[in-house]
Amino acid sequence: RRPMENLVAAQRETIDAMKKATKGEAVAHWFKTDLRCADNTSLALAAQKAQEMNVPLICFYLVSPQDFKAHLRSPVRVDFILRTLKVLRDDLAKLDIPLYVEIVEERARIPARVMELLDTWGCNHLCANLEYEVDELRRETKLLKLLAGKNKSFEVVHDTCVVPPGQLRSGSGNQYAVYTPWYRSWMAHIHANLDLLELHDTPPKNPATARKAFQKLFDCEIPNAPKGKELSAEEKKRFHALWPCGEHEAKARLEKFCEERIGEYSQQRNLPSRNGTSSLSVHLASGTISARTCVRTARDRNKSKKLDGGLDGIKVWMSEVAWRDFYRHVLVRWPHICMNKPYKPDYADIEWSYDTDHFKAWCEGKTGFPIVDAAMRQLNHTGYMHNRPRMVVASFLSKDLLIDWRMGEKYFMEHLVDGDFASNSGGWGFSASVGVDPQPYFRIFNPLRQSERFDPDGDYIRQWVPELKDLDNKQIHDPYNRGAGDKAKKNGYPKPIVEHSECRERALAAYKAAVA
Ligand code: FAD
Repeated sequence: RRPMENLVAAQRETIDAMKKATKGEAVAHWFKTDLRCADNTSLALAAQKAQEMNVPLICFYLVSPQDFKAHLRSPVRVDFILRTLKVLRDDLAKLDIPLYVEIVEERARIPARVMELLDTWGCNHLCANLEYEVDELRRETKLLKLLAGKNKSFEVVHDTCVVPPGQLRSGSGNQYAVYTPWYRSWMAHIHANLDLLELHDTPPKNPATARKAFQKLFDCEIPNAPKGKELSAEEKKRFHALWPCGEHEAKARLEKFCEERIGEYSQQRNLPSRNGTSSLSVHLASGTISARTCVRTARDRNKSKKLDGGLDGIKVWMSEVAWRDFYRHVLVRWPHICMNKPYKPDYADIEWSYDTDHFKAWCEGKTGFPIVDAAMRQLNHTGYMHNRPRMVVASFLSKDLLIDWRMGEKYFMEHLVDGDFASNSGGWGFSASVGVDPQPYFRIFNPLRQSERFDPDGDYIRQWVPELKDLDNKQIHDPYNRGAGDKAKKNGYPKPIVEHSECRERALAAYKAAVA
């Protein structure tokens, strides 16, 4: 059985034991990748239970250095999470709700530690939102059984997707493996179940007794970054300015985007030099905003409040937010993708290159392909890369350099502020043609054409590759072949490390050999 099916079975098996849970001293909500008070399914459920039982609501978050390591959380992402916890703690304190944060060194001990904490607090009811990665689903299944054994209830609910995974089936009753029919079905499902977009209540204030009963939890400090995930003083300054955190920031960003830019989204979204997209991925990945709120807010921008009508930009933006749901649905249905395996077994036989010089040049943005280098430098400097260049650099690594896409996927996770397993794995699977509904392997991006088409004036390249800033709009895309080699060389910009047309043939042969 798949991990999700095991969890559902455990939920069924433990239902009677959970019913025996007595009121206890408090109801608890466990924060994970849902770091917000507003529109949080589990938090609202826990608050409602606490009110009904007339006990306080308490919240906790467990910092797991091993999980940070296993999920390749970048230092900038860890820093964003820890800063967000401070905002969350302060917001909850205004409602007299404590947020307890603790470091648990061994991830395998998390279920036992949750149990100990609940015992210490006299809590018999725990709520949490589901995370769909394999390890997380297994952890929750274990915890369900552990808690049920002690007649404690654990409600683990869907929240992160607009449409919960498993709800959409093709005519043959299977999960869709192709985005377009899946998207049609996603949209129809929301139309038929508009409650999916309803806002969940922010918790009300705790009873006055909560402060006295749980004073120690209110005094809790947010820890510093674990070893290996620390930022230097310069990085802190840079990233804090680039990535203000917390749910208020997320909400303001969404509203500003919907107010000022969403109408132009379809024209602007592919141009990396423009501020044409929402930059909400860091917030969606940390849960400082819900995908539900994003879709509802965008829909409400349409005067008619229509979900798939009105402004083109709104429709297209929703369909992008839907990709995030799609890749989560895929992960639940085909969890082997989580184990670093291609979706189709044939693609496991591609003979990848492991050329360390090429990989280093790609990582450092020194390939001699300006659009690729601009993108990699943007990633290294900001923790973010625009979607179009993400596709370009992923294609360049896996097709032009024929380097194992998993190396690129890992590098992204180690550097992205919005690193998200399902979306990253989906994006790499698409670009390297090894995933669900991928770019066909014979469609190989030409970096020069991509550069000319999506950065026609070279503004993006100029911003990130200062060695080329004085070149004209034609030369800048390919300086060594357009008469600007001397200038580029003088400024220390490298020659192209490979020749695209040769690489294209090599990639076609390698893919063909594997799948033939
Ligand atoms: P907008 O264009 O404003 O889109 C709104 C939201 O929709 C995004 O914030 C994101 O949550 C979602 N979204 C948009 N496009 C996609 C997509 N193709 N796949 C999944 N969700 C999407 N996105 C991540 O959030 N984390 C990742 O680790 C990640 N890795 C990627 C790796 C590769 C190789 C590729 C090609 C794409 C990856 N993406 C990832 C998807 C996409 O590039 C980013 O979500 C987007 O660039 C974020 O910018 P934005 O918030 O301004 O997006």
